Formats: sequence, structure tokens, C-alpha cells
Amino acid sequence: MEGDTITAISTPMGEAAIAIVRLSGENALDIADQMFRGKQSLKEVDSHTIHYGFIIDPDTQEKAEEVMVTVMRAPKTFTREDVIEINCHGGLISVNRVLEIALSGGARLAEPGEFTKRAFLNGRIDLSQAEAVMDLIRAKTDRAMNVALNQMEGRLSNLIQKLRQTLLETVAHVEVNIDYPEYDAEEMTHQLLIEKLGYVQNEIDSLLQTAEQGKILREGLSTVIIGRPNVGKSSLLNSLVHENKAIVTDIPGTTRDVIEEYVNVRGVPLRLVDTAGIRETEDIVERIGVERSRKVLKEADLILLLLNNGEALTDEDRKLFEAARGMDVIVIVNKTDLTPEIDMDEVRRLASDHPVVSTSIKEEEGIDELEESIKELFFSGSVELGDMTYVSNSRHISLLKQAKRSLQEAFHGIESGLPVDMVQIDITRTWEILGEIVGDTVSESLIDQLFSQFCLGK
Ligand code: GDP
Ligand code: ZN
Repeated sequence: MEGDTITAISTPMGEAAIAIVRLSGENALDIADQMFRGKQSLKEVDSHTIHYGFIIDPDTQEKAEEVMVTVMRAPKTFTREDVIEINCHGGLISVNRVLEIALSGGARLAEPGEFTKRAFLNGRIDLSQAEAVMDLIRAKTDRAMNVALNQMEGRLSNLIQKLRQTLLETVAHVEVNIDYPEYDAEEMTHQLLIEKLGYVQNEIDSLLQTAEQGKILREGLSTVIIGRPNVGKSSLLNSLVHENKAIVTDIPGTTRDVIEEYVNVRGVPLRLVDTAGIRETEDIVERIGVERSRKVLKEADLILLLLNNGEALTDEDRKLFEAARGMDVIVIVNKTDLTPEIDMDEVRRLASDHPVVSTSIKEEEGIDELEESIKELFFSGSVELGDMTYVSNSRHISLLKQAKRSLQEAFHGIESGLPVDMVQIDITRTWEILGEIVGDTVSESLIDQLFSQFCLGK
């Protein structure tokens, strides 16, 4: 039922100093007022003001929690409904208590993403913006955060709408030519079509080009540390995690062990394979052979190949190079504090054009250089982020690809001299597909499915 009043805890669970219980809906104000005791009734206060007071236990009529309550009346709110935010002083127990009181006061527990869904359904934000909210919640690094923010500000939506507008104009133009064939030369129409559609295609292409990097920003660069036993793989992992604040977050509903493997290395989000995985790769080549280990490594975006400066190269080391051929590899010669036994000439030869970095993880040396080369590897030749519109959402990417195909059909039609009204069908379809990105033409079930991915309380 739309419009009923929903509630949820909208801050991450855990040790946060302040937790917020949010209510949204027709009766939000009534429900909040009835559970609150302060200087004034919440129904009498101005919109967008905050009030000190207590939440009252409905059974005992005693003060249950000390709170600050923010009152935001429709329509200038996130959901465009009346919204109440109850700030509690942290603690799982206290915030849960407030939530329970809100529920017993007549609010319903929000489904995951339901606040954002309402914002969408009430026209406050479009679909790509709603998805950006979800990305924002999950954003792993500052850069990923920027991509999400840009999208939320409607950058992608604006561009998509511009493209759709162009498509509409061409359709309108074609329409005129169908209705008044004498009005314009067929030749002209074709030229105009090719020009306008070419523009749309170029824009779609450049959006798709950003997709790969966008995906990495969102999901992290999947990184595997390989090397013989004892070269220092676990030490490296620890040092990366320790030096770089392991990336957020403790949002309920996300798997903790997955999240904790993210580290932010100078703006590059690394998704380090789990410790168990690393242990397994220790003798991966020995165990499963070069071919199979290549397959495992192929899944990775980045390979950190560790060698021991204190020992001569072994055949196992050489096999690792072989297994990692053709991939993004950084070669790390570790334990530089030990007397060098390794043949650096051979290392460089094996490394070919991959960067070689020397470290002593034990003495904490060379880690800066390593981080710098990770950053260079990722950002070299790539556009600086910030002022670009990035596509990082897999649904958007797939729709853009469909739009591209449908445009190609249109082009094909024009070239092979199909009647314009046939071409028009492909143009209209492209317009529809792009509309799905911003949510103009999406089906109900897709909307439900999308919003159910959200975290509770958003
Ligand atoms: P893994 O088997 O590859 O995971 O290697 P570990 O990280 O467990 O390290 C094996 C041993 O090498 C441990 O005793 C580490 O303390 C030690 N070690 C790691 N890095 C260095 C280093 O840079 N110099 C020296 N001398 N020892 C190191
Ligand atoms: Zn280890």
C-alpha cells in the first residue's frame, strides 16, 4: 500500500554515536508526536526544525530514550511525504527500542530500499538517481563516491534525456516527411538522420567506454597476491590493509567478510581475495598446473607477484611469471633487508614491461613505491575522473548496449534504403531503451526488484 507510514533504522548498525530512526508517510507526524514528549507538540512545530525531548514507553508511560527529533513536512523531503527522523544516542538497544515503539504506534517496517522507492514513485528522483543512492551507500572509495554523486545529481540522466530528445526530433522530422512527402527531399532526410543518429551513437559509445573503469571503481580491482610459500604474501596483505584504512562499512545486510577485504590504495579500490584464497594460491601452480592456474588468475584485474630477494629464483617463480603472462602484473621483490641472492637481471627480463618494485615489508620499506605503481597502472592513460559522466551500473551498461544495437539497425536500414517509417521503428525503440535508464519506461516488477536491493532504511 502506498502512502502508509514506514519506518526503519537508517544509520549503519554498530558503534556509531548517533543512530537515526526514520519515518515517512501520511501518519509519520501523528505517530512521532504520540511517542514523543518535549517542550512542544511536534504537530505544532515548523517544518525542517529539530526538537529535543524523550521517547515515551507506551506501556509504562515512562521516558524511554533521550532524543532529537527532526520534523520535515511534505513535499520538500526525500520521499516527498512527511518525514520524521529520530536521532538516538547510539547503542543498538536504544535505537531498536525506538523502532519498536514506532512500530507499535502504527508504522510499518520499511522494506529494503522503500524510502528511495517512494522518492522515485513520487517523482522526487529518477531511476538512475535512485540507483546512484544505492551505489552511494555501497561506495568503496572517494572516487567511486564521486561517480555515484555525479549520477545522483542527474548527470547521466541529463545526458540520456538529451539523447532521447534528439531521437524524438528525428522521429518528428521523419514524420513530417511521411505526411508531406513533397515538403522535403528524401535525400535531406537521410542526411539529417545520419547526422543526428551519429551524434547519439557517439555519445553512447563514449559512455560505454567509461563503463569498464566505472565497474572497477564500483566493485574494486580484484587483486590476487601470488608467490612461493614464505615470500611474504600474508605480510603484504596485512600491510596493505593496515596502511590503508580498510574500506567502510558496516551496513546491515551486507556480508562482512566481503567488505573487509576492500582497501583504498590512493583512490584505487582493491578487492583483495580472501585470506583463504591467498593461502590456496601459495602453491597453486604446483597443485593444478600452469594452464589451470592461468584460468584462476584470469579472473583477477591485478596480480601482485612476490619474489624473495634473499633466495635465488626457482622454477616455481618462473612458472608464476608464465601463469600471469598477459595480465596486469606488478612484480615485487620482497625482503630487501636480506643479502641479495636473486638475479635481478633475470627478474627484469621475466617481468618484461611490467613494473618491478623492491620492498622490505618487515622494515616497512618500498610500500609507498608499490602503492604508487598500483595507482599508475590503474590511472595511466585513463581520463581523470570528476568532470566525466561515468556509467558504472551493470543495468545501465546493458541498456546502453541494447540502445547501440538498435541504433545500428537504424543505420543499417538507412544505408540499405529502407523506407523511413521502417527506420523510425528502430529509432523509437532506441528512445524507449534509453528511457529505461532513467525509469520512464520501466515495468513495475523491475522497479520492485531494483529497490529490493537497497539497504534497509534507505
Ligand atoms: P607467505 O607464506 O607468502 O604468506 O609469507 P608470510 O607473509 O607468512 O611471511 C613469511 C615470513 O617472512 C614471515 O616470518 C615474515 O615475517 C617474513 N617476512 C615477510 N616480509 C619480510 C621482509 O621484508 N623481510 C624479512 N626479512 N622477512 C619478511
Ligand atoms: Zn601466507
